[in-house]
Amino acid sequence: MPSTILQRLKAIVGEEHAYLPEEVDAASVKDHSLFADCPFEALVYPASPREIACIVDLCNQCQIPLTPRGGGTGVTGGALPVAGGILLSLRRLDRILHVDLSNRYAVVESGVITETFCTAIEAQGMYFPIYPGSKGSSFIGGNIAENAGSPRSCKYGTVKDFLLNLEVVLPTGEVIWTGANVYKDVTGLNLTQLFAGSEGVLGIITKAVLKIIPKPLKKRTLLAGFSDVRTACEAALSLSRGFIQPAAVELITRSAIDLTAPFVSANYPLLGPDVQAHVLLEWEEYTEAGLDLAVDESYKRLQAYDPVDVFSGISAGESDLLWSLRNRIGEAMTAQGCRYRDIDSCVPPANVFAYLESIDGIASRYGRRLICFGHAMDGNLHTMLLLPEGDSGVEALDLTSLLTDIYNAALSLGGTISGEHGIGCLQNEFLPLQLSATHLALMRRVKMAFDPRLILNPGKLLLT
Ligand SMILES: Cc1cc2nc3c(=O)[nH]c(=O)nc-3n(C[C@H](O)[C@H](O)[C@H](O)COP(=O)(O)OP(=O)(O)OC[C@H]3O[C@@H](n4cnc5c(N)ncnc54)[C@H](O)[C@@H]3O)c2cc1C
Repeated sequence: MPSTILQRLKAIVGEEHAYLPEEVDAASVKDHSLFADCPFEALVYPASPREIACIVDLCNQCQIPLTPRGGGTGVTGGALPVAGGILLSLRRLDRILHVDLSNRYAVVESGVITETFCTAIEAQGMYFPIYPGSKGSSFIGGNIAENAGSPRSCKYGTVKDFLLNLEVVLPTGEVIWTGANVYKDVTGLNLTQLFAGSEGVLGIITKAVLKIIPKPLKKRTLLAGFSDVRTACEAALSLSRGFIQPAAVELITRSAIDLTAPFVSANYPLLGPDVQAHVLLEWEEYTEAGLDLAVDESYKRLQAYDPVDVFSGISAGESDLLWSLRNRIGEAMTAQGCRYRDIDSCVPPANVFAYLESIDGIASRYGRRLICFGHAMDGNLHTMLLLPEGDSGVEALDLTSLLTDIYNAALSLGGTISGEHGIGCLQNEFLPLQLSATHLALMRRVKMAFDPRLILNPGKLLLT
């Protein structure tokens, strides 16, 4: 890069907020995908939409790729500068600007850490329930750009369901607000929702107006063990017919239990060989009576499927214990010397068991470990492909063929390639499995309308 570009960046953001690659530590430019390091030319930390607009102008003038970056917790390579150029971190846009309790929304900058936002509004008795497992480091802007979900999505939906309005710096340098700070708005095309899950290819989100709800006051957790996976899936599915939805319904299969059991407390229940799957439930309600009603109703439904046993977590400590196995699966895989690829296909909830059967078949065919767990009521299971370090077969593994089989399994059951992690640069080659040529061409035309010089996050989401 000509030094004048770095100098021009420094002139925009200040001397101490633009760096050459050799001046930054590796963690600040990676994400959580297995994608290799990408060479890039500069890392810049702007502090305002105006500074971002100036950087966008510079990229347009010099035809330099620009990659927006949130917390870097993405697992599909979306924040990696695969085409080189400038990496733009939103880290300095970290203010919660306003919490409007009367109108039930909050205005935040996009670099606010998800958990920081959740904690701040909970202190005011309000709630933003869609926080991902990465909440301690992901940013609100990254959550919007990925339309993140969470275990609580079965009750509350995903981030898109909480978006009222966004401030965006367009790839042409203009700054717009996409909607209005109201709960109903049909004035014009719904650009706000277009940015949900847009993976940084249409614009750089700088502020968000997020719907917030009153914080539920009562919570209960329950763990049920089943002697076979099909019954566990049927029991989980039956809960969706209840009149009060649990906040979370997670399915954990035996292989995930085996892998993680050494990492949980010795008094964790239902680890015996008679259990083939766990269904982990949580309810969030506003009154004790409402909670009792919800739990009783679900409990009766579960009992109809003859669980091996059921454990209830009433105190926060008990609840944490019951969640600990689910929450430590990734850590257990890493601790056992495995890299993993997290495939997050989503199927209609009634087809979860059929999907799991297909995955077992694929694992046997390829002689690979595929471990499934996740959001049963959404049909959004994590299918973890374990890649043990030092396994010589890993290099020879035909990943494209294996992934094609997994995605086709989901698609043949009426599902989708990705339920919450997005496409990034790891899954775009598979888009034609699901989307027609017409659909892909339309998406490219939308991209061109926003970004005629194709500077923003090239190589992501779309087949370019
Ligand atoms: C341990 C772990 C647990 C996870 N759990 C979940 C989960 O429960 N649910 C879930 O959905 N995901 C989960 N994820 C995936 C990841 O955390 C989410 O996709 C998250 O929303 C990414 O946010 P981020 O700020 O880290 O974004 P990044 O990884 O930095 O970026 C992701 C994408 O968003 C774009 N982007 C970032 N900020 C902006 C912006 N301001 N404007 C425009 N584009 C932008 C980037 O260009 C990139 O394409 C998990 C990941 C890990 C490592």
